[in-house]
Amino acid sequence: MLLSTAIPPSRVVRRRCLSEVIVDNVDADVLLVIDVQNDFCAGGSLEVPGGDDVVPLINEIAQDFRHVVLTQDWHPPRHLSFASSHKGSEAFSQIDLPYGPQTLWPDHCVQNRPGAALHKGLNVPHTELIIRKGFRREIDSYSAFFENDHKTPTGLAGYFKERGFKKVYLAGLAFDYCVRYSAEDAKSLGFETLVIENACKAIDFNGSAEATRKLFRYRGIDLI
Ligand SMILES: [Zn+2]
Repeated sequence: MLLSTAIPPSRVVRRRCLSEVIVDNVDADVLLVIDVQNDFCAGGSLEVPGGDDVVPLINEIAQDFRHVVLTQDWHPPRHLSFASSHKGSEAFSQIDLPYGPQTLWPDHCVQNRPGAALHKGLNVPHTELIIRKGFRREIDSYSAFFENDHKTPTGLAGYFKERGFKKVYLAGLAFDYCVRYSAEDAKSLGFETLVIENACKAIDFNGSAEATRKLFRYRGIDLI
């Protein structure tokens, strides 16, 4: 059930949904859904185990939010994060780029290709913004706010601030990469930051899921 439009904007009936999320100030809250795209779901080139499972949960949770923003990983062909762009390099190995270490990935989320499309089951018609990231060939962007040099902004922080959002709830793929870096940046930018863990799935590469949980505890990012 969608929130009633009769509810005044700054107050909403506290209501639990599948994730036990309680939304109590809809105008200052935003749900940020990270990279629910075909290449990260079943059959995709960089499949996150169980990635599809987040789709119905996100559809349900989104109904509790007046404001929803989606991200879309959006790489040009031969992006520098692709192993195929580095002769002799294997996917999931690491290289050093001018901005620091970079994991190399299989080709994924190439602009305008089916793998880059949002999952067809994602049903959040009231999404207000879809922000694309990773479109510069020379730099990757895990976070929805800054590219991997941690300096180049995507513009999302300005958008959130101008819209008056104070509390950012995150869900999506992958928990231990793009959700993690987006949550860290949201916290650093001064937003109250909460990650809805059961609406995320992890790649869990070398213990990265547990490392992410520990980091969130250390950083004061709430896992709900
Ligand atoms: Zn990517």
